[in-house]
Amino acid sequence: MESAEGGGSFAHLGLDARLLKAVGELGWATPTLIQEKAIPLALEGKDLLARARTGSGKTGAYALPLLQHLLRGKASASVAEQAVRGLILVPTKELGQQVVQMLRQLAAYCARDLHIVNISGQAELAAQRPILMEKPDVVVGTPSRVLAHLQAHSLSLQDSLEILVMDEADLLFSFGFEEDLKSLLCHLPKIYQAFLMSATFNEDVKTLKELVLHNPVTLKLQESQLPDSSQLSQFHIRCEKEEDKFLLLYALLKLSLVQGKVILFVSTIDRSYRLKLFLEQFSIPACILNSELPVQSRCHIISQFNRGFCDYIIASEEQDLAEQERPRERRRRGRKGIKAGKGKDQEYGVSRGIDFQNVSAVLNFDFPPSVASYIHRAGRTARADNPGTALTFVLPSESALLTVIEAALVGDSNETPLRPYLFRMEEIEGLRYRCQDAMRSVTKQAIKEARLREIKEELLNSEKLKTYFEDNPRELNLLHHDKPLHPAIVKPHLRNVPEYLVPPTLRAVARTLVSKRKRQRRKPPSTKGQQNPLHSFKSAKQTWTPAKRRKAPGMGGS
Ligand code: AMP
Repeated sequence: MESAEGGGSFAHLGLDARLLKAVGELGWATPTLIQEKAIPLALEGKDLLARARTGSGKTGAYALPLLQHLLRGKASASVAEQAVRGLILVPTKELGQQVVQMLRQLAAYCARDLHIVNISGQAELAAQRPILMEKPDVVVGTPSRVLAHLQAHSLSLQDSLEILVMDEADLLFSFGFEEDLKSLLCHLPKIYQAFLMSATFNEDVKTLKELVLHNPVTLKLQESQLPDSSQLSQFHIRCEKEEDKFLLLYALLKLSLVQGKVILFVSTIDRSYRLKLFLEQFSIPACILNSELPVQSRCHIISQFNRGFCDYIIASEEQDLAEQERPRERRRRGRKGIKAGKGKDQEYGVSRGIDFQNVSAVLNFDFPPSVASYIHRAGRTARADNPGTALTFVLPSESALLTVIEAALVGDSNETPLRPYLFRMEEIEGLRYRCQDAMRSVTKQAIKEARLREIKEELLNSEKLKTYFEDNPRELNLLHHDKPLHPAIVKPHLRNVPEYLVPPTLRAVARTLVSKRKRQRRKPPSTKGQQNPLHSFKSAKQTWTPAKRRKAPGMGGS
């Protein structure tokens, strides 16, 4: 079995010195396995079909050879005219934003030579036309957006495209892009190099392979779908009823049993607001991410989270429900351009592809609907070489699904990595009345109001983001998405947990944390970099480690 790390060095891959410098600046010491295998083949001009799990460094694996190819072209006398030579297709706008960011980081020392644009955003076609008229070297976009520009003649690839990349290829079909993709391919030249990156090799990927790849090299790297248990700790905890999930979450966050940045996954948009309002009752701020929010806001929320401006994101994973549709249904919807739901953005994706950085823990507050969904959610933590934890709350009715997921994750050792997290619920019984009090305040009406208010606010934010902040990037940092929504009255006494309610086994930990927080409040805010001082001590290296907690008599993992 190959390790997730490549072990070689970037210097041996024959990359341009400017790219190597950028790689060094990103702190990438050695290529990941996929990078080590894919880059030399891509540089030889081979078509690639690569199965790369989320967080494996797959963006670098295609971005570096693409940039290298373009730089080589610029240096040679044969390529004189400016033209769009690279096209990267992505299934979601969020991924588009992220891919462009990574490409620009890698091209930081050759930015004058390489012009990279993202057209997957929500800007009007007309607004994007002048950008495309300048013939950027690389265009990143969703298939529908790229096709729209091709049909409107603001983009032409027929005579210029040299490299096509399909990122998260398995999703490109399932997001209803099949027809768009097929039409788009008619606008491409006969010969081009293509890279197809996919987390899974399913029927859709096979179809795409037939359509775009010529004699490809298939890289089915011997790596499991998730990092091994030395990097990713996976736990599940059984909750007798719905209320126990809220109680447990309250205890985990308020008693700092989970530290660092956390993604909380829920199944619907309403659930995300219910959870946000519930946490608000205890003065725990959290951001919300869902398909109803404008794309600028979504991308900004992810970037704020990545830069440490908020610790908790509540993500509703509605797309997976769409993924569960029968393929024919999906395709019919895709063909007719029908969106997944009223007001929802079909090109929204949270658990797939998005690089949430330094996430200490993924918390499946609501049980994932499928094995694939579990894997993609858990894959939001323990990325690159960071450690992480995935904790799943399980209701009695979800036991059968848990068994399916456990079976799917069984590795060579014949043991499932998803272990029970032993937690003595009776130790937090003292917190139950507070939890019930908070749950009562979060009425259906409060959720409805919060949902409307947030959308209104984010629409305003989105407008600001689009115009004003383009010229004032520093002030962009001042825009927060984790503000309280307050449709329910927040009772100040719930902010802190009195010591008598803290389980005896955790009192020492709680005391240390309180004095730590007090010390931090007294400290003048640091101006160094973009890091929020309140968050700086919560690095991914200091993740929640149930193994340590096992030593405490009250709770522990088995
Ligand atoms: P990706 O799978 O492309 O979304 O990348 C996941 C994360 O790994 C990103 O935060 C990258 O910056 C990071 N990464 C990519 N390649 C490397 C590398 N060779 N060494 C360390 N981190 C990397």
